[in-house]
Order: sequence, then structure tokens, then C-alpha cells
Amino acid sequence: MRWALIGASTIASQYVIGAIRAQADGEVVRLVSGSAARARQYAADHGIAESGTDLDQALSDPRVAAVYVSSTNEKHHEQAMAAIAAGRHVLCEKPLALTLEQAQAMVAAADAAGVVFATNHHLRCSGSHRAMRALIAEGRIGRVLSLRLFHAVHLPENLRGWRINDAGAGGGVIPDITVHDADVARFLLGEDPVSVVAQMASTGMGDGVEDSAMSVWAMPSGAMVMSHESFTHPFAGSGLEVHGTAGSIFARGVMTQRPVGEIELVTAAGREAVAYPDHDLYAQGLAEFHAAVRGEGRPAATGRDGVKSLAVALAVREAARTGTRQAVDYGA
Ligand code: NDP
Repeated sequence: MRWALIGASTIASQYVIGAIRAQADGEVVRLVSGSAARARQYAADHGIAESGTDLDQALSDPRVAAVYVSSTNEKHHEQAMAAIAAGRHVLCEKPLALTLEQAQAMVAAADAAGVVFATNHHLRCSGSHRAMRALIAEGRIGRVLSLRLFHAVHLPENLRGWRINDAGAGGGVIPDITVHDADVARFLLGEDPVSVVAQMASTGMGDGVEDSAMSVWAMPSGAMVMSHESFTHPFAGSGLEVHGTAGSIFARGVMTQRPVGEIELVTAAGREAVAYPDHDLYAQGLAEFHAAVRGEGRPAATGRDGVKSLAVALAVREAARTGTRQAVDYGA
């Protein structure tokens, strides 16, 4: 399947171009950027034959079957809508859009056009998260009481642009990382947060947007989720814990882009290391996307999953802004 990339981005260069090329039939044939010079350089660096700034021209290329949108967040909606209107399958970066209405419109348009539309929530593609989900589903920890998500990172120098200083581009840690944590909670627990309380802060990097957030989410089952995201923590490390009536899961270093980290299951029987497959997260997501286009199953994270993760993130930001509990609005 031949892909066009929209966005000369770091994530495409570090992970997604390789993940596309890891598919037996995966090929990147075009790149669209906002800058002609940047498009040329990026295409040359990554061996992409065609590049330019004209989105319509790229979308009218009959070879292009699928489009990967990884521009800054405020552009996702318009670019994905154009790709869908051109009848292309779309893998879109998170957050799908800046508003719930925009994200819902993208899903509705893809449904109407009959194209595959997916969200690039990579963590649910990891062997570690799938192993933990299976433990929970098999009842190994009993009834889930709580989930604690630790996702405070230290943003690398090269990513300290729009993410930390441009609200209009969709900057801030909540659209960047809380959306992923919302997807992880939904994926592990199989239910959607109902309401949230939250605080956010700027702790050294954020300039006009938050660089840190802590929130607590209520789940329909009664389970509670505690979620911490930040750009400013050099040594915190990532992880998650799921606590149930019959056991606890402790995972360290698993909220990352690579198949790393350790999982331990603790029950009355003792402590047990949990093994998991170490496949590439992004290649797995691409494999499931390619399969969905062939009519075999659904993408790892659908467009609706992207709408829901955005809905949770929007509720967290509103809760933090207003200092009030917010019901999560998933739309109609
Ligand atoms: P980048 O800042 O690297 O790229 C975003 C855009 O910024 C590019 O499309 C490009 O615009 C422009 N740009 C990038 N580098 C430069 C530069 N050196 N000079 C001038 N302009 C530049 O962002 P990311 O790759 O980190 O993120 C892109 C999207 O992917 C976001 O939506 C983000 O949320 C998402 N993301 C998802 C991840 C995941 O694991 N699912 C991980 C990381 C990011 P143009 O295309 O116009 O040239």
C-alpha cells in the first residue's frame, strides 16, 4: 500500500516511516510540508520520491491509497478531512483535532466515505500493555479498584517548540500526553471515564500552555484512575499500576515509544515477573492498519478511540481551568 505523509515531522522520521516500510507492501511515495525547502530536504533525507506543499496534488496522485497526518495538532482536522474527501484511508496523529466537534466530523466523514480512519495511539500496540490488559480481563487481579498512570517525562530539546509555547498549534501536555493516558486507561480497563477533577501547572517549560497536569478520573465500574503527565521531569521514569481485589500489577518504564519496561504481578501466591512480546509498537499499529484496509479487522485504535481520548483530555483541561469536576462529554 502506498502512503503519502502530511507533515515533515519528527515522529514520522523516527518511527512511522520505518513502520510503514516494515510492512511487506508498505511504501512512502509522497510528502507534503508547509515549506517547499523543508519538504525537499526531508524527502531527500528519507528517500521519498515526491514532495511539495500542494496537498491537493498529493491527494490526486492515484498511487496514494493511505495518508499519515503528523503535522501540528491544529492542522489535523483540515488535512484529514481533505484526505477522506479524496477517498484515502487515514492514519491520524493524536489529538485528532482541537475540538470534539472537529474530531467527530472526521469520524463521520470517514464512515460516510467508507475509508479506514485510525488514531496513532501507539501504547495499546505494545506487548506490555496487551499483556496487562489480558491479565485484567482474565481476572488475575480480581475486580479493579484503581489505576495509577505515571507519565511525567523530560521533553527532549528538539521537541521544545510549539508543544510548550503555542496554544494555537495545540500545545500543552494535556493534548500531548493526557490523550495517550486516556487511551491507555480505556484500553486496559475496557470502560470510559465518566468524570474528572484536575490541576495543571507550568513548571519550567510551558510558556502560555501547561507543561504538567494531575487528574483523577471516575470510571463507570467505580474504579478510580490517577493520571500524571509532565514535560519537565528528568528522572521520574514512567509506569503504571493497576490494583484489584485479588492482586496488583506494577509496570515500570512502559509508557514509552519502545518495547521496553518490566511488569510484575503480585497476588496472594507471591510476586511473578510477566513476560511480553517485544515487537515494535508503531510497526504493529501499521500492520493492523494495513489489515483493516484489506478488510481484516479494525485498526488498533479507531477514529472513535481518538474522539474518546480527546474528550477525556478536554475534560481534564476544563476541570483544571475551572477548578470544578467535569463530566466527560463524548458527544452524540
Ligand atoms: P514536529 O514538531 O517534529 O513536527 C510537526 C510539524 O512541525 C511538522 O509537520 C513540520 O511542519 C514542522 N517542523 C518540524 N520540525 C521542524 C523544523 N526543524 N523546522 C521547521 N518546522 C519544523 O512534531 P512531532 O513529530 O513531535 O509531532 C507531530 C504530531 O505527531 C503531533 O500531532 C503529535 O501530537 C504527534 N505525535 C505522536 C506521537 C505518538 O507516539 N503517537 C509521538 C510524537 C508526536 P511541515 O510539515 O509544515 O514542514
